[in-house]
Amino acid sequence: MTVISNHMPTAELQALDAAHHMHPFTTNDELAKKGARVITRAKGVYLTDSEGNQILDAMAGLWCVNIGYGRPEMAEVAARQMMELPFYNTFFMTTHVPAIALAQEIAKLAPGDLNHIFFAGSGSEANDTNLRMVRTYWAEKGKPSKSHIISRKNGYHGSTVGAGSLGGMSYMHAQGGMPIPGIHHINQPDWWSEGGDMTREAFGLARAQELEAKILELGEDNVAAFIAEPIQGAGGVIIPPDTYWPEIQRIIDKYEILLIADEVICGFGRTGNWFGSQTMGIRPHIMTIAKGLSSGYQPIGGSIVCDEVAEVINATEFNHGYTYSGHPVAAAVALENLRILQDEKILDRVNNVGGPALKAGLETLRDHPLVGEVNIKGMMASLPLTPHKESRAKFASDAGTVGYMCRERCFANNLVMRHVGDRMIISPPLIIEPEEIDVFIERARKALDETYAQLKDKDMLKAAS
Ligand code: PMP
Repeated sequence: MTVISNHMPTAELQALDAAHHMHPFTTNDELAKKGARVITRAKGVYLTDSEGNQILDAMAGLWCVNIGYGRPEMAEVAARQMMELPFYNTFFMTTHVPAIALAQEIAKLAPGDLNHIFFAGSGSEANDTNLRMVRTYWAEKGKPSKSHIISRKNGYHGSTVGAGSLGGMSYMHAQGGMPIPGIHHINQPDWWSEGGDMTREAFGLARAQELEAKILELGEDNVAAFIAEPIQGAGGVIIPPDTYWPEIQRIIDKYEILLIADEVICGFGRTGNWFGSQTMGIRPHIMTIAKGLSSGYQPIGGSIVCDEVAEVINATEFNHGYTYSGHPVAAAVALENLRILQDEKILDRVNNVGGPALKAGLETLRDHPLVGEVNIKGMMASLPLTPHKESRAKFASDAGTVGYMCRERCFANNLVMRHVGDRMIISPPLIIEPEEIDVFIERARKALDETYAQLKDKDMLKAAS
């Protein structure tokens, strides 16, 4: 077998990558011409690439490396578990200690009567579980017509056919026959982009009331559930107006439908509580989890299910599951991650140290000519870019052009800050230190300045008419 190592020249690694590796959400031909960035190692909040650059990762990988990179305890737990029991399934009347212990710990951390866990390998898989579970729940209760699911445009729930259908990404729906039937998308609570002349509060209320209108249109007897992220992540870190979630909860309480909170990004401390549902004051029947559950050290996800739904599902054979449901190594690593989050009081740090420092740092960017506003909750944030703040104008260029330019300037300045359309999004490891936040802000400002200079040069500071 050819040995491919970190010490090979970058160009060689890039050529091999282009020859055989198909990247997700990527035009691979374009990437092949450019050459993929090769990450070789990481520690704390810094990535090292094959050229030796030290890149500050203000995205925690893909919103997941909450405890930071390079924690030896996580590797030790994984190695120990691999020696003891590298794999066994949880089908066929069997279980093992890591799955038992992790389920118990998650039930302890989850609010209310969310006491039962169905494990999956990822957030997408967990949402596929949810789709089938809520329909099975109503069918078992003698109401099989309650099968429609309401979701939101620009929500993200994953990339499998079920999860991609629940999601509201039109560019995903355009490929491969999604959404599947029975899923309906209402508008999102994105005041910055879609609020027009309405106040934030009135807009939040109006967007929440779309749920009630959709339930009435479909008929309460035909609706199984509403699914949403407490704060949309991949949609651009969209923090809904304060009026939004209370109104959604009122509607959920009024009608006989289930609420699924997709906590894949918001869960495990990102918003300052264990779950975004607590931050937003909502009471879901099911929560989707992944990412921060293991801080990305192992692939694992799941559905946290309330007593009432679990009672019905547990009374029948739910013909669903994954080879890796409750994988012992992933479960052991996730458990160690939850220990670290608790022992090191990382949520307190989000609320009292990292979160306030990140907010203060981002506030210093508010006066930058491109920055429209600063949105932040806990340690997830976004900066919508605009040619004209007061009118919240969009750029005349295609949506995403300016965001992409800014992301490229971030990379050039050894910073990972992603863009969604023309919004810059931020989600650093929760353990980021205030001095590291200073470095982040310094690099972000430089990238914004360079983007502004480029836009000026190319006469692209124009607003869309
Ligand atoms: N739900 C949400 C809210 C997510 O952000 C993501 C991933 N970005 C998913 C589900 C899908 O998770 P995965 O990529 O692990 O399948």
